[in-house]
Amino acid sequence: MKIFKSVSEFTQFRKSLTNMKIGFIPTMGNLHQGHLSLVKSSLSQTKLTIVSIFVNPLQFGENEDFGEYPRTLDKDLEKLKSLDKNNIVVFAPSSAQEIYPENFSSKILTMGMDDKLCGTTRPGHFEGVTTIVFILFQLVRPHLAFFGMKDFQQLSIIKKMVKDLYLNVEIVAHPIIREESGLALSSRNQYLSNTERELALNLLESLKLKKELILKDKNYLLDQSLPKLPKECRWDYLNIVSQNTLRPATLTDKKILIAGAMFVGTTRLIDNLTLDLTC
Ligand code: AMP
Repeated sequence: MKIFKSVSEFTQFRKSLTNMKIGFIPTMGNLHQGHLSLVKSSLSQTKLTIVSIFVNPLQFGENEDFGEYPRTLDKDLEKLKSLDKNNIVVFAPSSAQEIYPENFSSKILTMGMDDKLCGTTRPGHFEGVTTIVFILFQLVRPHLAFFGMKDFQQLSIIKKMVKDLYLNVEIVAHPIIREESGLALSSRNQYLSNTERELALNLLESLKLKKELILKDKNYLLDQSLPKLPKECRWDYLNIVSQNTLRPATLTDKKILIAGAMFVGTTRLIDNLTLDLTC
């Protein structure tokens, strides 16, 4: 499996690829089955799958976990190799400077959806995401790029960036991969103790409760109240929104997203459920 750690070597390699359908999965590493489901999907649809592994400083706030974010490159490479040695290439820039040299001063901003849900308490997060994804799209020049619905807002913003800026890439969305308990797989689950893992299930349970209420009575689409949580947990937000705009749902919306972010101790977890009221 080829691994590139510098932009210049990767760019040279990319130039050598011609007439080949390329799939791309941008990640921050610490790969789990959620990431690997995207890789498998790319392997089945393209000739070559490029996986990037880069903990992007631009998308972390000052008091967030950039320093502690799990970096497990060797294990990640083993997991990828076990899927397919020949058709996966890894781009793992060796440092932040590799992508953002000292005089770097550009930004990609996609407005309208970046100030809602996670954007409310993570200002600047999504411009960090769009900037790195734009740069990676330029370097990788993929035909297909795969993203998980676990980060539904990120997916929506990237789709908008691709449309607005006429980027020549097709975005493929993938369902959330969960543990048997229902807990959505996340690199941040590692921060949780066993007790906290149990407590973390309150997030999905609350989303399910909202969904059930809406299915019984559509008026619950307007109910943005926060379900009660055990004292160890705290809501960042829980919102019922339109999938298209991420604005609070109205009674005429059909494609609904119930999205939440909850702290368990100091760990912030996100999850969501979609709901189609078309029929
Ligand atoms: P990350 O490494 O957290 O930046 O995630 C890289 C990609 O994997 C993003 O497109 C995520 O949405 C996706 N992803 C992360 N966790 C999951 C999951 N549990 N199920 C599906 N996709 C996921």
